[in-house]
Amino acid sequence: MQNNLFRPDWQTESIISKLSLNDICNRDLKGLLIDVDHTLLTRDESIVHESVREWIESAKSYFKLHLISNNPSYKRVNSVAKQLNVGFSYKALKPRKSSLLEIVKLFKLKNHEVAMIGDRIFTDILAGNRAGMYTILVKGIGINGSLHRNNFNQHIESMIAKSLGA
Ligand SMILES: [Mg+2]
Repeated sequence: MQNNLFRPDWQTESIISKLSLNDICNRDLKGLLIDVDHTLLTRDESIVHESVREWIESAKSYFKLHLISNNPSYKRVNSVAKQLNVGFSYKALKPRKSSLLEIVKLFKLKNHEVAMIGDRIFTDILAGNRAGMYTILVKGIGINGSLHRNNFNQHIESMIAKSLGA
């Protein structure tokens, strides 16, 4: 586990669909918990872009997958999960770790064998680190599966985290 809870184990410079599955496999991970809004699609979109759907489909060959969203809308998160045909948790209350640990248990894996992937430090990364999981920070996704143009929130959080010693 990280000694600084705001520091991701792996700070990537790419959106999720550009992450190399090989690079994830090399980290000895068996399960992935994935944030939804701004990690898989923007909040304004309802359809997951093909590039992201394909990445998730390939990832299924190597990992157990589950979506973990703080979004309070069952309808929204269910709709995304259905398109990807994966399990999901909504209203997850990240940075609390309880919803993450529930799924690790369901996966029958050890905490360190599961990664939390998300675009936000103060929710996704903090929750994953608290749970003793591997944490992967991805860039926020823009419309149509592109890289979001400024990633302003992540930039601000990153500066605050650094000032806290991350
Ligand atoms: Mg997010």
